[in-house]
Formats: sequence, structure tokens, C-alpha cells
Amino acid sequence: MSDLPLIRLEKVYKIYKMGESKVRALYGVSLDIHQGEMLAIMGSSGSGKSTLMNILGCLDRPTKGRYLLSGEDIGDLSDNELAAIRNKRLGFVFQSFNLLKRTSAIENVELPMVYSGAKNRSERAMEALEKVKLGDRYKHKPSELSGGEQQRVAIARAIVTDPDIVLADEPTGNLDSKVSAEIMEIFCQFNDAGKTIILVTHERDIAAYATRVVTLFDGKIKSDVPQNSIHCRPIEVNT
Ligand code: ADP
Ligand code: MG
Repeated sequence: MSDLPLIRLEKVYKIYKMGESKVRALYGVSLDIHQGEMLAIMGSSGSGKSTLMNILGCLDRPTKGRYLLSGEDIGDLSDNELAAIRNKRLGFVFQSFNLLKRTSAIENVELPMVYSGAKNRSERAMEALEKVKLGDRYKHKPSELSGGEQQRVAIARAIVTDPDIVLADEPTGNLDSKVSAEIMEIFCQFNDAGKTIILVTHERDIAAYATRVVTLFDGKIKSDVPQNSIHCRPIEVNT
């Protein structure tokens, strides 16, 4: 087995220019992530978590430094090549679900395959919805689903293309603790099936599912700690 990491960041900087001033969103971040890890990224608001996720997800490029994905320097790729990598290898889940409002669950899940021109789209979308236990709600529109169900649709959309890596930015930020635990168990199942999961959270209870916790402070890694995951055991719900 090669010990080449799935993801390697080498001294990554992201500097935003705001008129005269500069914001140092990431300041020399180096990070290796291996296939099969379940990584939580923590840190206070403004510490650079979303910026880091955008770079890991090939939605944005570093100002300086290198990002190697399976050994390939993404700095050498065109925007079209990056878009192809996003579509094939990465799945995204957001705090606000980002579903199309007037579109059924199954059509939302089909969307990434529409972009890639994949075949058997409705069968594959249905399979993905069944994996998140929403097979019986496939015709429902987002407004006809609870928050937890909407996030499950979004997770089905993220995994329908069978990506190696799922990136989730505060996926439980809008959900209560019981529903959050259900969502985390779904991520754990995909992690058990070999997918690499990277999620941003500011809740310790959510980070407890991860096998490793990276904490950012002012655009730098403050700590990087492996931990025994509470993997797929429901968290205690305080009522
Ligand atoms: P977090 O997700 O940890 O709250 P962000 O990565 O969103 O932090 O932001 C890190 C810093 O970069 C913050 O100071 C934020 O204001 C700044 N920032 C983020 N995105 C932009 C942008 N597009 N333009 C200018 N500044 C930005
Ligand atoms: Mg953020």
C-alpha cells in the first residue's frame, strides 16, 4: 500500500484583498489526509474553516502553496479540469442544504449526474435516496420535508456520483441534536464503506464522531489530534 496521502496541503495561504487591507484567511496550512479518515475541522468563527474547505473541495485555489490530490498538483489544472475533479471525486454538503426549492428530492439528487451526463440517472438517484432511508419520499419537494430529511437529500446528492471524498461545512448547524446524531450516523456509514469524510463543525458532540480533529486559529492549524471516534453510537441527547 502506498503511504501517499489522498490529500496533501503544503504551506497553503489564502489572502483576500479588501481594498487597501488584506485578510489572511489561511496562513501556511500544511495537512495530510489519508483515504478512509473521518476528519473534523474546528475553530472559532473567522478562523478559516470554510476557506480551507473551499480549497480542499477545489472550489477555490490557494494564493500560495500546493494542493496535491492523489499526488496530482491541482495548481497545474485548468478550471475545466478542476470542475471535472469536483464532479467525479468530491461530494459537497452544506449547512443550508442548498436544494432546488421547486424540484423533487429525486430530481435534486439527479443533478450532479445531469452535469456529468451519466446514464441510469433516476435508478442511481433512487439508490442514493434509499441509502439515506428516504426512498419513500422521492417525490417530495424540499418544503414538504423536515430539515433532517432535506439534509439527507443533500447527502444523497453528494454521494450519488460515488465520490472518494465527502466535504461537509457545518452539516448539522441547522438541526437539533437528535436529528444531528442521525445525520452523523449516515456519514459514519459512508466512512465505514471507505469514503473519506471531512466536516466542519463547532460542536464537540459532532466532532466526537471523527477519527481526528484539526483546530484552526487565525488561519493556522492550532492542534491536530487523533481520537477514538464514538462512531455510529448515538450521542447523548440532553433534553
Ligand atoms: P470560518 O469558516 O472559520 O468562519 P472563513 O474561512 O469563512 O472562516 O473566513 C476566514 C477569514 O477570511 C475571515 O476573516 C473572513 O472574513 C475572511 N474571508 C472569507 N471569505 C472571504 C472573501 N471572499 N473575501 C474577503 N474575505 C473573506
Ligand atoms: Mg464557515
